[in-house]
Amino acid sequence: MKFFDSLIDKANALLAPLPCRTQSKSVAWDDVGKNQVIMRRDTAFELEGTGFNLVTSNCVNDETVVIGNDPADIVKDTRFARISIIQIDDVGDEQQAYNLIKKIEYVKYHTFPDGYMMRSTSRSHKEAVRVAKSAIKSGIDFHKVGSLMIDKYKEIPAVKGVKVIFVTHPNADFGGIENLAVKNSEIAETLNHIMNSVNFDCSTCNLKAICDEVDGMKELHFRKSGKE
Ligand code: SF4
Repeated sequence: MKFFDSLIDKANALLAPLPCRTQSKSVAWDDVGKNQVIMRRDTAFELEGTGFNLVTSNCVNDETVVIGNDPADIVKDTRFARISIIQIDDVGDEQQAYNLIKKIEYVKYHTFPDGYMMRSTSRSHKEAVRVAKSAIKSGIDFHKVGSLMIDKYKEIPAVKGVKVIFVTHPNADFGGIENLAVKNSEIAETLNHIMNSVNFDCSTCNLKAICDEVDGMKELHFRKSGKE
């Protein structure tokens, strides 16, 4: 699976100028096992921004990266991004890889860090988080939340390595990160079209821009349609 590799390179390039703290997967934060509602009055602050996964077959170590303040040092609502870079088995069969990407996408809906209420929709890369005052008192930090996420992703046997990046640094290019998230969604949408449509006409297809940009997309659709 190499379709998202150029986005991973771009994400790394966007974030490289900023100071970061990297930690190997450590003790995970508690998962409460179900949706929790954190009322505004119980909220220390909200994180508002972008959250998305980038899947690859290249080697990824289990680690968390924090760029900017950790929850203990955040005093007001803050812009935020979460990027999870996920290594999967090189399954060879694109349909299997595509199914895996969808399965990985659902992990965020089954991860419930204690005092860390994530809100997002399946058709959007927007991600908002409410962090509870009680969680701050109990010592929540991004490395612990990220370690929990790594555990959850790795419940899928084909997931081999996960790097979760949290960004709260005020100098981060959040617009640039969002553009990557949009492109990520467009590539996933194109894969969806390719996997589910046997007919194609590139001259009228509204996904042509993505196929022109991402190596291997057109070839994949040709193969899936039996033209090659
Ligand atoms: S190969 Fe052509 S028809 Fe298929 S998704 Fe790409 S542009 Fe569209």
